[in-house]
Amino acid sequence: MKLFVLANGLLMCDRANLIAMPNLGTKDKPHTTSDWVESPVYAVLIEHPDGLVLFDTGCNPDAMNGRWDEASIQRTPYIAGEKDSLVGALRRLGYAPNDIAHVVVSHLHEDHAGCLEYFTKSEIYVSDTELAQTMKLYAIGQPAGGYIMKDIESWLRAGLHWNLIEDNTTEYDLLPGIRILNFGPGHTFGMMGLQVDLPNTGTIILPSDAINIAENLGPPIRYPGLAWDTRGYYNTVRRIADLQRKTNAQIWYSHDAEFYKTLIKSDEGYYD
Ligand SMILES: [Zn+2]
Repeated sequence: MKLFVLANGLLMCDRANLIAMPNLGTKDKPHTTSDWVESPVYAVLIEHPDGLVLFDTGCNPDAMNGRWDEASIQRTPYIAGEKDSLVGALRRLGYAPNDIAHVVVSHLHEDHAGCLEYFTKSEIYVSDTELAQTMKLYAIGQPAGGYIMKDIESWLRAGLHWNLIEDNTTEYDLLPGIRILNFGPGHTFGMMGLQVDLPNTGTIILPSDAINIAENLGPPIRYPGLAWDTRGYYNTVRRIADLQRKTNAQIWYSHDAEFYKTLIKSDEGYYD
């Protein structure tokens, strides 16, 4: 098995998106300011003897060119360089979207599900509740932070092969050494992560936005700015911390600029 980190550019955002109440006013300093920070975006490709597995798909390359609504652009503008396209990164490894057997999508936000439409030959794994609730938002025409109407339309047009991971399936063994972790409600309606057991590197936990940055993990656990279910979020982080202790795993934060610098990117090498 080889695991590749596919760089997908970055979002700029108020730090309060990543961690709730980062800069509270106090009696002596009542007027605080917000921090405008970089939030890297990446996907992960695993070469497995039984097929290629992709975890998340990053942002759509047309995000800033008519794909995203103005509120999303204002909240988290997307910046991508020449080498930050998901399809381009796959191509440099010798693959096309049609070669990917399994796509696990952690949740359906714009920076994780933005390129799903390209994977029409793949089996797509998503939380049942996440898909159901996202489709409800679409049906009632009520865009909510992180869900992009044109992304959803592209999935429907593409006729994707959805595989629904139901709420009571807390773990799903996808392939030997690759396990889907179904976290349930937290950051969104239904969050999923991935556990990958590599022979040399050891276990890697990809929590997605269940842990945006190191400070979310704590201790103490810190909530993100966007949380559908705070109790569910807390329980999820506890579960990940327990799993980390049991497996001595690395936890790869989803949007931590400092942590992200330490990762080997797919153009430089891989984890095995
Ligand atoms: Zn998210």
